Amino acid sequence: MDDPTPEVADQEAPSSGIAKAQPEVGPPLVEMVNVWKRFGQGAGETVALAGVDLAIQPGEFVTLIGPSGCGKSTLFNMIAGLTDTDSDGSVVFKNKPQRDGELLGKVSFMPQKDLLFAWRTVLDNATLALEIEGVPRAKARARAEAMFPEFGLAGFEKHYPHQLSGGMRQRVALMRTFLFERELMLLDEPFGALDALTRAMMQRWLLEIWEKHRRTVLFITHDIDEAIFLGDKVVVMTARPGRIKTVETIDLPRPRGAEVITSPEFIEIKRRLLGIVEEESLKSFASAGAS
Ligand code: ADP
Repeated sequence: MDDPTPEVADQEAPSSGIAKAQPEVGPPLVEMVNVWKRFGQGAGETVALAGVDLAIQPGEFVTLIGPSGCGKSTLFNMIAGLTDTDSDGSVVFKNKPQRDGELLGKVSFMPQKDLLFAWRTVLDNATLALEIEGVPRAKARARAEAMFPEFGLAGFEKHYPHQLSGGMRQRVALMRTFLFERELMLLDEPFGALDALTRAMMQRWLLEIWEKHRRTVLFITHDIDEAIFLGDKVVVMTARPGRIKTVETIDLPRPRGAEVITSPEFIEIKRRLLGIVEEESLKSFASAGAS
């Protein structure tokens, strides 16, 4: 670990003068140090990640944005413990380098698809991770039932997933992720398939929940507004092979309501990030055209 907080060098000084929501003190909860990932070999080799350095502090809400194919899901899978890093670098969790699936079970995650089981009720879907963990069914159910009101699902315990709207299904999947109480929560585009209005409501709701529970979150998105609105930090990745292009600290005050997205500070951050993201998206587009 030559440089424990490599992203700090890239950050611009906050322009708003508002105190930071999450001061960066102490060791990171998770740190990626020179992380590489290659798939295939020889002419068929794809370099998905090429020296990623990223630190996530305890309690932070970090959003990650980058062009399609830049390695976001690969990074997600690595932090979830589903994929190993190549031997060049390491993923460090609470100061300990992690190998061979060691991270599995230490992190709760919600993949892009909600993965609700059609044949299980909403309540039984919510308790799934707890049951797999060995929590007795009655106890798991009691814990889940207590969270239904907070997740806007009271009265839907015995419904089946097909009886719910898209937003409600995502809340069930999120509730399952919250119930699997881990210090780090990974969310891969949880609102990607929702209409704009539902999405905006879900973002505000997620912040309320997060402010109450204060878990550390890594949230992947394609949407710059979403990344800025939610995050303490927005991490921008380069076109493939994925590296960290920049890390923008978002000093917008919390709690954040709908009015935040029309504030001059928000618009200025968006203008800056759009330029960077568009540059990378064009590179990604060009290389896809060339191959
Ligand atoms: P993103 O989530 O940013 O769209 P991914 O992490 O899914 O990107 O993929 C990064 C690159 O790695 C892509 O070019 C993808 O085709 C490649 N890739 C991902 N997983 C595999 C795999 N299991 N085998 C081969 N190539 C893969």
